[in-house]
Amino acid sequence: MKQIIVAIDGYSSCGKSTIAKQLASYAGYRYIDTGAMYRAVAFYALQHRLTDDAQVVAALPDIHINFLRQDDGTQHTWLNGEDIEKAIRTLEVGNRASQVSQIKEVRQFLVEQQQAMGKDKGIVMDGRDIGTVVFPQAELKLFLTASLEVRAQRRFKELQDKNPDDKTLRYEDVLRDVNDRDYRDTHRTESPLRQAEDAVVVDNSNLTPDQQSALVCNLLNERLSTL
Ligand code: C5P
Repeated sequence: MKQIIVAIDGYSSCGKSTIAKQLASYAGYRYIDTGAMYRAVAFYALQHRLTDDAQVVAALPDIHINFLRQDDGTQHTWLNGEDIEKAIRTLEVGNRASQVSQIKEVRQFLVEQQQAMGKDKGIVMDGRDIGTVVFPQAELKLFLTASLEVRAQRRFKELQDKNPDDKTLRYEDVLRDVNDRDYRDTHRTESPLRQAEDAVVVDNSNLTPDQQSALVCNLLNERLSTL
């Protein structure tokens, strides 16, 4: 298969990572979850009690993020030699990620690393600014969307599955959280979430995982056939 860049953007919890993983495995490409990189910076900031932006910026040279493949084929996020995959999938880290992602220097720091990861193509990357800022030249851009309630339900289930012992988790909090995050992602000054002009919009509110997979694999094949 030809090596191209697939950029996937969209709101929180609209299934970007599911689609990205499906496409990456179908095409034999590498998958990069850029949200995990913002979460890793947030995790570091929480761990070291960095409360203001200047402290976070000053700490960037000490933040080393990478993705390592596990024996079961899944990919885990590592920070400074520690597997933080589970620890970063919480509401607290997600909220802090949404804050640190508004800092210009944090974005520059991570975008540079993301661009380096895509230099040989053959990559599927998901996030908020992939088709607009990280890879405006990506050969295939998808913009995912789903209704707020569908997304909040999905996020709630995902959090429950990841931390079954968390008794503090409430659907109302998750709904409000997804809504707040949408607002912050679309209204921030630095690289706000927006649909690239040449992106294909996929609304998956009513699609099963199989239907979605078939749809995006078709889009990829169509795009490849034009190159
Ligand atoms: O996708 P995920 O929910 O893991 O991302 C966590 C946060 O990181 C998002 O709420 C968003 O604010 C930020 N983010 C971003 N740009 C990206 C990926 C994520 O600003 N490319």
